[in-house]
Amino acid sequence: MLKVVLARLQQGHRTLRYPEGPAPELPSNFRGRPEIDGAKCPEGCRACAEACPTGAISVTDGARLDLGRCLFCTDCREACPEQAIAYTSDPRLAVRDRGDLVLAEDQRALKLAAALDAKLMKLFGRSLKLRQVSAGGCNACEADVNVLNTVGWDLGRFGIQLVASPRHADGLLITGPVTRNMELALRKTYAAVPEPKIVIAVGACAISGGPYIGHPQAHDGASAIVPVDLFIPGCPPHPLTILDGLLRLLGRIEEKSGPVS
Ligand code: SF4
Repeated sequence: MLKVVLARLQQGHRTLRYPEGPAPELPSNFRGRPEIDGAKCPEGCRACAEACPTGAISVTDGARLDLGRCLFCTDCREACPEQAIAYTSDPRLAVRDRGDLVLAEDQRALKLAAALDAKLMKLFGRSLKLRQVSAGGCNACEADVNVLNTVGWDLGRFGIQLVASPRHADGLLITGPVTRNMELALRKTYAAVPEPKIVIAVGACAISGGPYIGHPQAHDGASAIVPVDLFIPGCPPHPLTILDGLLRLLGRIEEKSGPVS
């Protein structure tokens, strides 16, 4: 027992100080918000759009990249003959409106998620219980949500907890494209959450269907079944991206753009 106590004393406090302190250091190959330099795009070039496996890029009327569909696979970057597409290290990607995930060329910031309205903030601002629904996901988004419950991130310090029953929850956190097999389960789980409730879609699958867009055995994301209040893109989103989105929804982070401190 004494050894355990000594080990804990030696280890010290392991939880991140973010968001009061600095954000955790991200690996050099981390891919955050993309940028498209429209001035470099050759006339009529469609290389990026043709390389994209999910149809996230359109090049009619200037290049546009839908982060709700994007897998951050970099196939577009590799295909571009002019290196017009780059991935920044900015992990902040969560938005309230689906349309805000469509990034135009030369756009250097997203309209990041605004906080809940005053009534919901009063209810959920200091205590938000979420029921996680894996609606046909591959477990990558689920794993990165789980990371937030480790001692390093300690999601509970913000009053946010994942709970076992929708009847104990204030909302749903949905991953996966919502397969036909999970549709009824999602509808029932949503109905079991007491009003007022919120829904958070995590990952490309839950936002748009991701790599399963248009598949006959899956819906194109959670919005096809339930109203979504927060969209957190990625494949999977980094835990920092998920935490940033949750904290913005609860009004704990308010800066609109600029580097992560
Ligand atoms: S990184 Fe995103 S936009 Fe680019 S090819 Fe992959 S899925 Fe498409």
